Amino acid sequence: MAVSEIPARSGDAPGRPARTPRRPRGEGQWALGHREPLNPNERIKKDDDPLNVRDRIENIYAHRGFASIDPQDLRGRFRWWGLYTQRKAGIDGGRTAVLEPHELEDEYFMLRVRVDGGQLDLAQLRMIAEISREFARDTADITDRQNIQYHWIRVEDMPEIWRRLESVGLQTTEACGDCPRIVLGSPVAGVAEAELVDPTSAIDEIVRRYVGDKQYSNLPRKFKSSISWLVDTPYEANDIAFLGVDHPDHGPGFDLWVGGGLSTNPMLAQRLGVWVPLAEVPDVWAGVVGIFRDYGYRRLRHRARLKFLVADWGVAKFREVLEKEYLGRTMLDGPAPELPDKPIDHIGVHVQRDGRNYVGAAPVVGRVSGSQLAQLADVVEAHGSGRVRLTPYQKLLVLDVPPGRTESLVDGLRGIGLEARPSAWRRGTMACTGIEYCKLAIVETKALGEDLVARLEQRLRDFDADISIHINGCPNACARTQVADIGLKGQLVTGPDGRQVEGFQVHLGGGLGMAEGRTSGFGRKLRGLKTTAEELPEYVERLALRYLAGRTEGE
Ligand code: SF4
Repeated sequence: MAVSEIPARSGDAPGRPARTPRRPRGEGQWALGHREPLNPNERIKKDDDPLNVRDRIENIYAHRGFASIDPQDLRGRFRWWGLYTQRKAGIDGGRTAVLEPHELEDEYFMLRVRVDGGQLDLAQLRMIAEISREFARDTADITDRQNIQYHWIRVEDMPEIWRRLESVGLQTTEACGDCPRIVLGSPVAGVAEAELVDPTSAIDEIVRRYVGDKQYSNLPRKFKSSISWLVDTPYEANDIAFLGVDHPDHGPGFDLWVGGGLSTNPMLAQRLGVWVPLAEVPDVWAGVVGIFRDYGYRRLRHRARLKFLVADWGVAKFREVLEKEYLGRTMLDGPAPELPDKPIDHIGVHVQRDGRNYVGAAPVVGRVSGSQLAQLADVVEAHGSGRVRLTPYQKLLVLDVPPGRTESLVDGLRGIGLEARPSAWRRGTMACTGIEYCKLAIVETKALGEDLVARLEQRLRDFDADISIHINGCPNACARTQVADIGLKGQLVTGPDGRQVEGFQVHLGGGLGMAEGRTSGFGRKLRGLKTTAEELPEYVERLALRYLAGRTEGE
C-alpha cells in the first residue's frame, strides 16, 4: 500500500495529507540490520571492543592511577576483565538511586576470578589466597556462580594480579560484562557415582575456544551457562544449560535448555527437546550464543537478555533457527532428564565412584578470607587430597579423601570455620554482595546473613528440614531471590516509627531443579509480605515454627 493510501487517523487535520506512520524502532537486533548503537552501552562496545581495555590498564592506568581512567572504560569496559568499582563506604541505601555513579564509587575495585566448573587445584587455591592477602585486604568471597570475588583491589596492582593468576591457569577474562560469563559445572564432575558422562572436557573446550574471542565479546548483555550431568546447579536460571540425559537409542548425552534468567523479569529456561552428545556441546553452545549476539534485543538494557527472545520466538522457532542458520543440520530429538525430588548441594561426606570420599563444607553465606583459604589448602593437602571445588550455593567441596582420613578432615575443616555438618540455617542461607561493596545495593546482606544464621542456630538449633534463604541487596536477584523457600529482595520499608529503614520484600516457596510434584517455580510475592532487616530473624523464626506446626507426614 502506498503511503498516501493509509487512512488518516482521527487526530489528522482534515484536508492535510495523512502523517506517515513511524516505522517500528525495532529491538536493535543486528541480524535485522540494526548495527547503529541505540544506547550508551551499545555505543561503548561498538567504539572499542571491551577486551582491548586490558592493554590500557597494564600500560597506562596501572602507572597513572585511578584518576587517569577514562569513564567509559571505568564504568563500561573494565567489567570484561572482572573489574567493577566498589561502593564508597558509608553511603546508605536510600541514596543509591539518587547519586551519580561517580558519587557512589570508591577508588577500589571488586575483582571476579572465574573458576569455570568450580574446579581448583592446590596451586590455584594457594594463589587465590596469596593474592587475597597481598592485594585484597584478605577478602575472597565464594559467589553463587562459583567465582571468587575480591574487594579493595587497586588498578595499580592489576598487572601483577593477572600475572600471578595466569601463572596457575586462572583468569578474570569476561568474568563480568556483556559476554559469556563463567560456565557453571557440577562440583562433583568426574567423581560422582551417579554421573554417566563428565562434561568437564566440554566446559574446558568452550573456555579455550570462546572466552576472550572477539566474535563473542559483544553480546546484548551477560550470557550465563551451566553444563552438568547431575541436577546440582541452578540450571533453569541460566541463558543456556546442558543437563545429563540417557537417550534410549543413542546413550548418554545432554538435554539443552535456553532462556532462563532471574533479575526483575524472572523466567525459567525451557527445553528445546534435543539430545546433544558430549563432543557437540561446544558447537551447540556457540550456536546459541550466536543467536543471542545476532538476534538478541539491544535497544533496551532491561530487555536485552536471551530470555526475552526465547519468550517471543518460542522454543520451536529457536530450535529451527539454531539448526538452519547456526549448525547447518538437524538435531536429534531427546528425552527429558530425570529430576531429583530436591536440589543437591553435596554438603557432608559422600562416597566417590573410586571409593574415596568427597566432603562438602559450608562457610557462612560464602564469606571466606584468603587466610582461611590458605589454611584450607594445608588441611586438604595434609589429608591426601589435591582438589577443591566451589559450588553455586556459596559452599566448597574437598575431593579424593581416603576413607580413613575423612573424619580427621571434617575436624580440620571445622577448625578453620568450614562446617561439613552445618545446621539447616547455615546450609541453606546465601547472600549477595550487598551494600558493603555493591553500588546498586539498597540494603546490607552478608553481615546480616551471618547474624541471621547465628541467631537461628541459637533459637532453633534442631530445625530438621531443608530450607533455603536467599538474601539480596536489591531487586537484581544476584542471589536468586525468586527460587528460594524464603527469598528476600532488599528495599526500603516502613519501620515501626514510620521512617524508611532497610528491609525486604519476601518471596515464599520458590525452588529449582526438582521433580514433578515439587516442580520448579518462583516463590509467591505477596503484597505486604515485608520485614525490616532488624526484624528478619524473628520473622524467619515465626515462618519456620508455623511450617513445623503445619507440615504433613514425610514433608
Ligand atoms: Fe548488588 Fe543487588 Fe546484585 Fe546484591 S542483588 S549483588 S545488591 S546488584
